[in-house]
Amino acid sequence: MAAVPDRGYVTIDTEECKGCGLCLEACPPRCLEFEPELNAYGVRPARYLGRGCTGCGICFYACPEPGAITVYRVAPPPKSAGTATGEASHAPAL
Ligand code: SF4
Ligand code: SF4
Repeated sequence: MAAVPDRGYVTIDTEECKGCGLCLEACPPRCLEFEPELNAYGVRPARYLGRGCTGCGICFYACPEPGAITVYRVAPPPKSAGTATGEASHAPAL
């Protein structure tokens, strides 16, 4: 059976992240973790595990650092497009 494609993904600016962990706690599917390496602030920044994101945006609203997290929602492919992948778009609001 084919895997269901993720509905979103996130990017995290490791030099903006303060390593508070609020996004890790807030993410419903638990698809965020801490980097093993320290950033310039001497903390382990958050990173995306690479799969499982629903594009819900909760991590964005949980994060106290403006600009640390960017959430992208992936548009589902048109039914007539077969296996084509959707376009990603920034998700500013829930
Ligand atoms: S957008 Fe939602 S599912 Fe994706 S990483 Fe953020 S909280 Fe988790
Ligand atoms: S909530 Fe923001 S500052 Fe805190 S760990 Fe996540 S990305 Fe970093």
